[in-house]
Amino acid sequence: MSTLRFQAIMKALDAKPIEIEETKRRSELFAFNVFNEHVMQQYVTKEAYQSVLSAIRTGAKIDRYLADHVSTGMKEWAIAKGATHYTHWFQPLTGATAEKHDAFFEPIGNGTAIEKFEGSQLVQQEPDASSFPNGGIRNTFEARGYTAWDPTSPAFIYGTTLCIPTIFVAYTGEALDYKTPLLRALQAVDVAAVDVCKYFDKNVKKVNASLGWEQEYFLIDSGLANSRPDLMLTGRTLLGHSSAKGQQLDDHYFGTIPNRAMAYMRDLEHECMLLGIPVKTRHNEVAPNQFELAPIYSEANLAVDHNSLLMDVMKKVAERHKFVVLFHEKPFAGVNGSGKHNNWSLSTDTGVNLLSPGKTPMSNLQFLTFFINTIKAVNENEELLRASIASASNDHRLGANEAPPAIISVFIGAQLTKVLQNLETVTKGKLSPEEKTDLKLNVVGKIPEILLDNTDRNRTSPFAFTGNKFEFRAVGSRANCASAMTVLNSIVAKQLIDFKAEVDALIESKGMKKDDAIFNILREYIKQSKRILFEGNGYSDEWEKEAKKRKLSNNKTTPEALKAKISERALSLFEELNVMNRVESKARYEIEMEEYILRIQIESRVLGDIARNHVVPTAVRYQNMLIENVRGLKEVYGTSFKKLAKEQMSLIENISEHIETINTKITEMVEARKVANNIVSVDKKADAYCFKVKPFFEEIRYHCDKLELMVDDEIWPLTKYRELLFTK
Ligand code: ADP
Ligand code: MG
Repeated sequence: MSTLRFQAIMKALDAKPIEIEETKRRSELFAFNVFNEHVMQQYVTKEAYQSVLSAIRTGAKIDRYLADHVSTGMKEWAIAKGATHYTHWFQPLTGATAEKHDAFFEPIGNGTAIEKFEGSQLVQQEPDASSFPNGGIRNTFEARGYTAWDPTSPAFIYGTTLCIPTIFVAYTGEALDYKTPLLRALQAVDVAAVDVCKYFDKNVKKVNASLGWEQEYFLIDSGLANSRPDLMLTGRTLLGHSSAKGQQLDDHYFGTIPNRAMAYMRDLEHECMLLGIPVKTRHNEVAPNQFELAPIYSEANLAVDHNSLLMDVMKKVAERHKFVVLFHEKPFAGVNGSGKHNNWSLSTDTGVNLLSPGKTPMSNLQFLTFFINTIKAVNENEELLRASIASASNDHRLGANEAPPAIISVFIGAQLTKVLQNLETVTKGKLSPEEKTDLKLNVVGKIPEILLDNTDRNRTSPFAFTGNKFEFRAVGSRANCASAMTVLNSIVAKQLIDFKAEVDALIESKGMKKDDAIFNILREYIKQSKRILFEGNGYSDEWEKEAKKRKLSNNKTTPEALKAKISERALSLFEELNVMNRVESKARYEIEMEEYILRIQIESRVLGDIARNHVVPTAVRYQNMLIENVRGLKEVYGTSFKKLAKEQMSLIENISEHIETINTKITEMVEARKVANNIVSVDKKADAYCFKVKPFFEEIRYHCDKLELMVDDEIWPLTKYRELLFTK
């Protein structure tokens, strides 16, 4: 008997949900461990409080003396809540979060000690973080990197540690993390959007990008998950025959949440409340043991931090419940993968969502301006947007007939399609008073306030307008949202800057009225951006053909997709906006290509190991059992044994064939790997891994999965799909 597998199954069957007591209302718990504006007001001087507020609102620097006040207040608050340590909490380019804890405790001589946390420790730290990926930035410039406080994301206590969200940059200023470019992109879109808002409302001083992510994940019993080396080492199953019952019956989606999972969710939500992560929605997803969690949206930088923190908290809470959380985009073949929809909008400090149709024609013209500019930005940067979500694991999902395709298109719904058609026919040059009135009454004025119902039908679109926001659905479940958000906000910022310049030019040189100029520019934008609009089934083959005609990119693999990040267009876009200089852009490209190579390399090694050391020996064992059986039949029945042993003998041969193919393919794969490893250029190496090594995976898997179906269940060592997916 295959002990580990069966022991794990026995234990999993015995597992009971943990009792979760909820004695306090969630509203009382909310942000209990967050040093937000409200708390700060109670712990720091008025002057220090004001200076942090202005740092948050305008990006002004906090002076050292006031930083001391803030840190003292923070320390008092944190210690009162049981914190013993503090850490700068940041998001290096590994995709995980990083922390290095220091105690508040400090000896002051003569056998005594105090708790100390100074302004300088709050504001800046120099972690020895030389092992984080830097894409050559640190080699070219200075070896050192430092973390610096981001006051726009409040400090929080997790466990007994005060965590201070920070950026992570090289000494020469180059960003080594996800947060820095994101903050710069948010700044760029703020300035650009405020400028455009001024056409409609002079009072607007700030525009915030909002993000509401939806996190999908699998929850697998930890014993079962740990019994699979592939799941543990790569986050996905590299082999495993699909279960007879998968998701065909759609009986898991939105179904009753299983008890153990429910206990996990409640425990997790409790933690989220304390940390101020406003989680609101929970439900079963399409695949068995797949779930989703979504918060109420918030300012994008905070939402990104919350998502990164959440993924960490999810793993920790899972340990208590004897679960493993899988964030991989495709942990199991044949059932749905996981994504992370990024719902995005822009809103003003006057309380207007710029992507929400309003009550008046004027507010609707503002809505259309932002709506159409976003579409144009996506059209012109579709390839870069695709690159922003590229990863080895997301490649399994995009274009795999269940998730958005690798082709970026925008869905807007029938009503808005019609509005755009009408706007496209606006007269060139100055509009007559009649036309203007007609437009205002019958086109712009007729956009219903609530578009939600009829815009959310198409679930196959990677970038869909859903009533008052765009939903970028192709983001991977493992991804840090910052990547996608940096690109999206940057391309929209750039587009808004261009729009403003074009409108102003018409006003100044052609003496046009503001509205006329806006209508004229929007008309051209609609004409120029048509190819990106697609209302049909994004999963269909016809769309692939059609998209090709439209010259939309269809980069199915990460090495192909990432190239857009170092195109001249992208490099100059980020440079112009001050989001990333060329060194920073190229460094990210290198890091992501490198990560791609490593992930495929690891998968290839693990697959070789499991196939050779688990599958093949088990198949041989079973073959020996069969041979023994045939031998016995011969002994008992003499020459007539052949008829009786027919099936067994054909199985024996069959097994041999599979074993032979597996061994040959592994040998060839190892050879291909050797060739790839000798390649110096990161591009060529990634290509070699993608096109020369990876194709072996499916082939090897096919034969292993066939063996799984043949070999006696009793001796099969790898926990099967039905056990992983249906044990609750
Ligand atoms: P669905 O599953 O239908 O896509 P959900 O209701 O699960 O939708 O999630 C919608 C997400 O969109 C939530 O995270 C929500 O907070 C977010 N959201 C709603 N309005 C906005 C907005 N104006 N800007 C950004 N995000 C938003
Ligand atoms: Mg969604």
